[in-house]
Amino acid sequence: MSVATVLPPQENKTNDAPSNASKLNFNRITDEQFLLAAEHMGLEDEIQKLLITPYRELIVQVPVRMDDGKLELFHGFRVQHNAVRGPYKGGLRFHHHVDLAEVRSLAALMTWKTAIVDVPFGGAKGGVTCDPTSMSRKELQSLTRGFAQKIDMALGVYRDIVAPDVGTNAQVMAWFMDEYGKKHGYTPAIVTGKPVRLGGSLGREEATGRGVMIITLEACKAYGIDVKRASIAVQGFGNVGSWASRLLAQRGANIVAVSDVKGGIFKEGGLDIDAVLAHVKETGSVVDMPGTRPCGNEELLTLDVDVLIPAALGGSITRHNVENVSAKLIVEAANSPVTPRADEALRARNIPVIPDILANAGGVTVSYFEWVQNLQQFSWSHEKVNVELEERMLKAWWNVHTRSVEEKTPLRIAAFTEALHRVAEATRQRY
Ligand code: GLU
Repeated sequence: MSVATVLPPQENKTNDAPSNASKLNFNRITDEQFLLAAEHMGLEDEIQKLLITPYRELIVQVPVRMDDGKLELFHGFRVQHNAVRGPYKGGLRFHHHVDLAEVRSLAALMTWKTAIVDVPFGGAKGGVTCDPTSMSRKELQSLTRGFAQKIDMALGVYRDIVAPDVGTNAQVMAWFMDEYGKKHGYTPAIVTGKPVRLGGSLGREEATGRGVMIITLEACKAYGIDVKRASIAVQGFGNVGSWASRLLAQRGANIVAVSDVKGGIFKEGGLDIDAVLAHVKETGSVVDMPGTRPCGNEELLTLDVDVLIPAALGGSITRHNVENVSAKLIVEAANSPVTPRADEALRARNIPVIPDILANAGGVTVSYFEWVQNLQQFSWSHEKVNVELEERMLKAWWNVHTRSVEEKTPLRIAAFTEALHRVAEATRQRY
């Protein structure tokens, strides 16, 4: 199977739409990244075929009786991409853009992510097409429990373990675990990212942001940027973006701009992130923070900063806006924020992009620690979690960066190659 037979080389419009991320075909994007690395490393066709194809895909109906008495039908997905290195592992996304192609792409990214940080998991992803922001707590709980019941047969602590993602959180994991437990008995290891009181790990909530911080510090060192003087813009102020901002600010960086779905804010000398967090808690958004000027999501991407951290949804930097990006370094905290055409344009301008599968792997790394703690029924201190996380992230950074330098290949291809080597080797040993 050659690259050409799997993926038409020409760009088609729907694969890099101007501003509507829902029109992007994320599955094609992930396949293209995979194939570039497979070609780079000379991966044999039979293994390529196996690794580009998901193992199992579930599409389920989830009917929910809404608060107004009407029965609404939601669609849920769980894609199990690969489990040669360990059980399927990946988050559950609640968002109105969710479709099978997106979940399939995110499931594959999980396989490569878990391989890069060398945790013994495969890759999976779940999603329900819904708008959680317009649903009541009761409706969300019914949706979560309904979805858990529908995919129950494909789950297990040694088969497939769920976690939070965009639009879900520790509370959703608590409902999911409770529903699973009704049939199987007490099973905390079926989800990670659950509340600490229910067996969650200390440090899991901040883990993805902490991983982004660790990788950003290393990348700054590698590309000659002094973090203490660096200006950083963060698109997205959800769990990942807000934790990354806070932890980088604690390391002396100037977070000059942050944004959320409602808009963004800018402050020349750097924002007081704790004050921004307090403002978000009070008003629900970063916008109208006193002492700052408004800065829209598109403008934020064009700011003349040292580091740009896209931490919102996929497809924020495309061929349509990439020429306006002025940052010296891009760290992908979200999944697939930079499309392949934008990636090429940035490469041509020598702007390094730290790929998502490395930069945001801190979450699943601490998910692994949580799973281990649940299985052993022994909990770790917050400090131990942070130390072990840092060790794994640094090792992953070192492996990917060294490969990129030695093989004269962009970091994304180096990261995929590193992951592919591990998964391919395990595959050959099994078959
Ligand atoms: N949803 C997160 C991610 O995309 C975490 C997944 C997990 O912990 O299993 O990496």
